[in-house]
Amino acid sequence: MILLISILTACNQNIKSTASKNVLLNEWEGPYGGVPAFNKMKVENIKDAMIQGMKLRLDEIENIAQNKDEPNFENTILQMERSGKELSRVYSYYGILSSNLSSPEFRKIQAELAPLLSEHQSKINQNESLFKRIETVFNNSKDNPLEPDQQRLVEIIYNSFFMSGASLNQQKKKQYASINKRLSELYIKFSNNILNDEESYTTYLTKEELGGLSEGFIKSAAEIAVKNGEKGKYAITNTRSSMDPFLTFSTEREIRKKVWKNYYSRADNDDEFDNKTIIAEILKLRKSRVNLLGYDNYADWRLQDRMAKNPDNAMNLMMSIWPAAINRVKQEVEDMQKLANSLGHNIKIEPWDYRFYAEKVRKSKYDLNSEEVKQYLQLNKLTEAMHYVAGRLFDYKFKKVEEGSVPVFHPDVEVWEVSKKSNDENVGLWYLDPYARQGKRSGAWASTFRGHTTFDGKTNVLATNNSNFIKPAEGESILVSWDDATTFFHEFGHALHFFSSNVRYPSLNGGVRDYTEFQSQLLERWLSTDEVIKQFLVHNKTGEPIPDQLVNKIKKASKFNQGFSTTEYLASALIDMKIHLADPENIDVAKFEIETLNQMNMPKELPMRHRTPHFGHVFSGEGYATAYYGYMWADVLTADATEAFVEAPDGFYDKELSDKLVKYLFAPRNAIDPAEAYRLFRGRDAEISALKRDRGF
Ligand SMILES: [Zn+2]
Repeated sequence: MILLISILTACNQNIKSTASKNVLLNEWEGPYGGVPAFNKMKVENIKDAMIQGMKLRLDEIENIAQNKDEPNFENTILQMERSGKELSRVYSYYGILSSNLSSPEFRKIQAELAPLLSEHQSKINQNESLFKRIETVFNNSKDNPLEPDQQRLVEIIYNSFFMSGASLNQQKKKQYASINKRLSELYIKFSNNILNDEESYTTYLTKEELGGLSEGFIKSAAEIAVKNGEKGKYAITNTRSSMDPFLTFSTEREIRKKVWKNYYSRADNDDEFDNKTIIAEILKLRKSRVNLLGYDNYADWRLQDRMAKNPDNAMNLMMSIWPAAINRVKQEVEDMQKLANSLGHNIKIEPWDYRFYAEKVRKSKYDLNSEEVKQYLQLNKLTEAMHYVAGRLFDYKFKKVEEGSVPVFHPDVEVWEVSKKSNDENVGLWYLDPYARQGKRSGAWASTFRGHTTFDGKTNVLATNNSNFIKPAEGESILVSWDDATTFFHEFGHALHFFSSNVRYPSLNGGVRDYTEFQSQLLERWLSTDEVIKQFLVHNKTGEPIPDQLVNKIKKASKFNQGFSTTEYLASALIDMKIHLADPENIDVAKFEIETLNQMNMPKELPMRHRTPHFGHVFSGEGYATAYYGYMWADVLTADATEAFVEAPDGFYDKELSDKLVKYLFAPRNAIDPAEAYRLFRGRDAEISALKRDRGF
């Protein structure tokens, strides 16, 4: 998943702060056009820096709003693009402290800042004189169109102000802002409750309970236990990266059940960290907020500027795949049940058995042992592989910066210089934070500290990839699963999307949510190209490339378990949409989830990928609310674009097609309409049938 802190960036030449300047506000210094001063980042400085940054930005905005000159693109839109540079810098630190290095101390500050940030945004979005100026520029542009990217920028800004309540009267504006303020508090509480339950429900195993687990997994589980003061035991943390392999391999069914329950009950334990009443309040607030703007429901409001345009289009896509997905689950469960019976296991497949028996079916059907595959998936080789792909498609080369030359926020973080292969031109820096640690949010994501723009001189891109690989014991190489390798490529796809931007204005770097997952999902496909396999998927001990036979098995097995993965995902995406289309008055969140899943004939043998109480995509902010479907929307584009590469004369490394890929699908970011960009690439719209073929449905 992706964390995009999209605020308007820019510079601040006229206004000098009178207060003593917080070090986190400072211009970035050093090599590569200046880099974040992570070596000076302290939790105790962040609150003051954020407050000062907000103040500076507000002053700039007020200057624009109060300008006596007739509004035009230069004195209004362009000046807005320039504003808030300090705040944007502080946000980079804030993002790291919140996602990579969170602590109880920071969480307290975060909770204090959330309402202030929301108020700050409201003050800008609801600034009447500012909106009047934007509206004038927007209206004038209808008669006298600007250059295409300027025109799109004006439209995006006008719409975002309109969608944020800029056109409301004073009283409604007040209501709107107070709703947002309350929501911002709830979002923070929601995600902190999940984090709390991820940290509080570690399961400790004894030596006798390690059946089925790999040596590497056991070693790191032992180390985590030592860190937690439980020497001699083995820790299964309450995170996906620990839960998933444990459920896949452990032979201890009762403990599997316990680990499963802990994980899927996060923030659903009817205690002070339970999220259900928070969700109910969020839903009500969201609905009343969009009602103020005249929308019937949150989804209508949210999707208007997405590729799907409206909830019906998104629902149609999901429902055209759902029956095939749950049907496939039925077959998968039958296969697993048969296998369990043949092993003399007297059980009925339950959700905590799915991964375990699926792995056994995988082995018997495809003779594919994921531990064997892992031996060929070394983290450092995968990193080289990604760089190779970026070289072939994007003309990039990666060179590790000299240690100490670029400040990092943790000793584990590594930094590469990215430049053009053909002319050595610097593109930016790539920061990689690979390992799980206390205080780091789970999963994998990408973000930027600085995006590409050219309107005030060219800026280079500072992008970061973050994963939660379990740090190996000293001296062990890091071996990862095929799924994790895929995710690693996925997040790198986001980074390449950031690096390849050729937009003029900062706001055009923003993503369209059901489109930005497409580029990253597409990049996953290069993991299994012959060029990558032959050069980089080599055995960690012998250095031999992965045998063709094993590769063929992986390729054949790639359609395996699609029932599980499609259904667990779609169940979450459908609940996300349906819960926002439902009447939130007196909603019982637990009941809604159960009843809706029942109506959809959700198979009993697996849960939603993200159950409602810990559905952070949807309730710890608004980025993916009624937009989780976006991954599948992007999947259709991915499957369709993949077919284009399969059909190309030189396949995945076809020069002509990869040039088009960069030119139309990556570089323009949001500077052209995504549907139009896709047509320029493919010559037509994407087809849902490509997705069905891709999943073997
Ligand atoms: Zn993503």
